Amino acid sequence: MSSNLNSTEKAPYVLVLGMGGTIAGLAPNPEENLLKYQAGQVGVGSLLAHIESAIPEGVKLVSQQLANINSRNLSEALLSLLGKTVKDSLAHSDVVGIVITHGTDTIEETGIFLQLTCGKYAQDLGKRVVITGAMLPANAPNADGPSNLLDAIRWASTPIDNCPGGIFATMGGRACMAMDLAKRHGTALNAPLQGSPSSSVGLINPSWLSGVKAVEAVWTEDFPIPGEGEWPWVEILTSHVGARPETVIQWLGSKVNGLILAGTGMGGFHDAWKAPLDQAISHGIALVRTSRTGAGSTRPDIPEKDSAGCMASGTLSAPRARIALQLSLNAAKQANMVGKPLTWQDFFARIANLPEIR
Ligand code: ASP
Repeated sequence: MSSNLNSTEKAPYVLVLGMGGTIAGLAPNPEENLLKYQAGQVGVGSLLAHIESAIPEGVKLVSQQLANINSRNLSEALLSLLGKTVKDSLAHSDVVGIVITHGTDTIEETGIFLQLTCGKYAQDLGKRVVITGAMLPANAPNADGPSNLLDAIRWASTPIDNCPGGIFATMGGRACMAMDLAKRHGTALNAPLQGSPSSSVGLINPSWLSGVKAVEAVWTEDFPIPGEGEWPWVEILTSHVGARPETVIQWLGSKVNGLILAGTGMGGFHDAWKAPLDQAISHGIALVRTSRTGAGSTRPDIPEKDSAGCMASGTLSAPRARIALQLSLNAAKQANMVGKPLTWQDFFARIANLPEIR
């Protein structure tokens, strides 16, 4: 194991980037209570040393610690650093693939971020970037991190049944596109992939694989990675019983650039929001409707006609739609700076219209 990125005797190698999370967590009393622990305690080099004897023959690893945090504290600046590191490392001819160890709380956001900013690049190079994490801390008696990490290393380094380059995830013996990660359970071992279209890592499901190829065929251009201070400000508002107009009105005088509306059912929202949301549009605030149900899709003009400029999120959940809107606002701004008259809606439509893997 090495953290020396220039170590040529290691080449070619898989780069393992450590971000923290439960996979690097420690519980003070692992025999008694696994719910009380601190995420981000163990270095990525130690996580790799722990599985050294099981690493596939001939696979060389180089590790780099980018952060060691509880991912609920993930910042946009850190996403910028991660995206830039992934992109620069993919370009390196010695790097055959990249593994990222990450906390599961916000792995959903990082998954879509990497797909939208590095997916096409990884695909063109035929290299795999694989995110993984764990639900049990590193010192739990049956810790799931080591097997998840080994699966990720295999997935990033070995030829896998026709599987192209791109941005993937492994967890609980399954693999999915990282943009399909969604933690929908607080404690279940397979929480980040529960309900996500996925395949067993050991036996690739052909219909999943053709879904991956269909998405990759449509994703023809990566979005720029916002610089540390360039991320647009986007908030998520949830519609609910007794929703108040003030929830929207309070943003009208702010510098917020966009609002994600996590609506009920098919992405509808309380009538009390109608007038203030129209005002928000006239204040130049970007609006995207999604559903708080956690599954299914939100379509344009359903359940009611959308106000001009408000977009439906397709199958994007609220956290994913938020990252997608931030990247779309940033992409439109950068396009405008070089004289291309594209709107955030032009960019967002490319994401919302990606095919759904079944
Ligand atoms: N709170 C932890 C984190 O996201 C949860 C985990 O990794 O499973 O960092």
